Amino acid sequence: MQNLLFIDGRFQAALAGGTIDVLSPSDGALITRIAAAEAADVDLAVAAAQRAFPAWSALAAAERGRLLLKLADKIEEHAEELAQLESRDTGHPIRDSRALDVPRTAACFRYFGGMADKIEGTVIPVEAGFLNYVQRKPIGVVGQIVPWNFPLMFTSWKMGPALAAGNTVVIKPSELTPLSTLRIAELMQEVGFPAGVVNVVPGYGHTAGQRLAEHHGVGKIAFTGSTVTGRRIVEASQGNLKRVQLELGGKGANIVFEDADLEAAINGAAWAIFHNQGQACIAGSRLILHERIADEFLERFTDLARSIRLGDPLDPHTEMGPLTSALHRDRVLAYADIAREQGGRILTGGKAPSDPELAAGYYVEPTVVEAQPGDRVAQEEVFGPFVTVLRFSTDEQALAIANGTQYGLGSGLWTRDLQRAHRMAANIRAGMCWINCYKRVSPGSPFGGLGESGYGREMGFEAIHDYTEARSVWVNVDAQIRPHYQR
Ligand code: NAD
Repeated sequence: MQNLLFIDGRFQAALAGGTIDVLSPSDGALITRIAAAEAADVDLAVAAAQRAFPAWSALAAAERGRLLLKLADKIEEHAEELAQLESRDTGHPIRDSRALDVPRTAACFRYFGGMADKIEGTVIPVEAGFLNYVQRKPIGVVGQIVPWNFPLMFTSWKMGPALAAGNTVVIKPSELTPLSTLRIAELMQEVGFPAGVVNVVPGYGHTAGQRLAEHHGVGKIAFTGSTVTGRRIVEASQGNLKRVQLELGGKGANIVFEDADLEAAINGAAWAIFHNQGQACIAGSRLILHERIADEFLERFTDLARSIRLGDPLDPHTEMGPLTSALHRDRVLAYADIAREQGGRILTGGKAPSDPELAAGYYVEPTVVEAQPGDRVAQEEVFGPFVTVLRFSTDEQALAIANGTQYGLGSGLWTRDLQRAHRMAANIRAGMCWINCYKRVSPGSPFGGLGESGYGREMGFEAIHDYTEARSVWVNVDAQIRPHYQR
């Protein structure tokens, strides 16, 4: 895959010959170079996807499903290789890549493989004499742009429903982490996906991404990334009014009530923010604690944070790897200064680890900061191992803090009171709410946000809905019914 794009079933160089260095987040060393797609390459990829669309969408749905199921099996056959590739490229601890990223990717492709021949239409009860049925038809060529935090898993979240529904795909992975997407394309070729059904155009956002978002041959753009880029995608999409799906940033509220099982909540809150170095849109990055338990909670939580093992992502004992890029590490560290400037208290972390073995990598210590709800660290997405603690005394206050950002993606709450749990879940403005757990995802359960976290849903039938158009057909079944102007 070195220096190559995947277009029309062939690995080929970018037309202009540009390349991008892919660096290891653990030490900054060059892993490989990949081709940098530009506008002309994206045009070729879209043309290939357009040519592939008629046959792919006309293929028996069960046949499309069978290919997705074969792909899921193939991913499992290559599980260890994919886990290593993902960890090298992104810095995910290998234990997470093995236990989560790879199995979840296979499970998602398998789920949508099974879904392909269950995309049923409906018959609408209309007035006598007419039959009205609605079919769900694929949109055509869909463009998919993904970020660097879960590149392997996002291939399945994005491509699974799109392909099951009969669309063809041009996918642009992040310039920072393109390797697993290119490898998945190779595996798709091996299991027999026809040429042009999936095309991979790694490249920079402002060139390849921009072209894909504005391309008139693309019927829908599905984007996962920051809210800032999401706005650009919406602007770029306007030329042909393509459909847009946006999975954007978040500032997850994770509320711990005074009656919670503290042991479970401390563990869950640490997972909520520190898994994947906090580089998760749904991370529980605002820890909202009842004042009665806050001190005890924080003492135990900061102890736990300090005990997290940082290290080489390929070491199975490592619990936290490096951040994905040096630039991003610096951005995360800058938030410690921003917190201090606004009067925040750093309870632990806020700096790179002192261990000389980690000096070359993009590491940040697990960071816990106490601040006020209006502070920048309580409002802006840091996207690192950085949690902002806020205190409350009443349920109403907790809710006001939880709903007090422009985002609305993931949220969690910890309580033994069933009524309170459901009442809060109903009122937290977020696409997902986890009660006495955090960050659970399943291919069957809709995933997406409200407000500036975006719109549209991945996973489940909601995703199929988002990758199809409803087409309504009216049939006159009564020969006595005549057009209006018949004399
Ligand atoms: P980003 O917005 O910088 O980049 C995401 C993708 O968009 C990359 O592939 C990039 O090359 C591309 N891109 C950049 N500029 C573009 C442009 N002008 N036109 C078209 N494409 C462009 O985001 P990132 O830093 O890679 O990822 C982190 C962000 O992603 C965070 O904000 C995080 O919350 C968000 N995210 C959201 C979800 C979700 O499901 N809601 C999931 C994961 C990550």
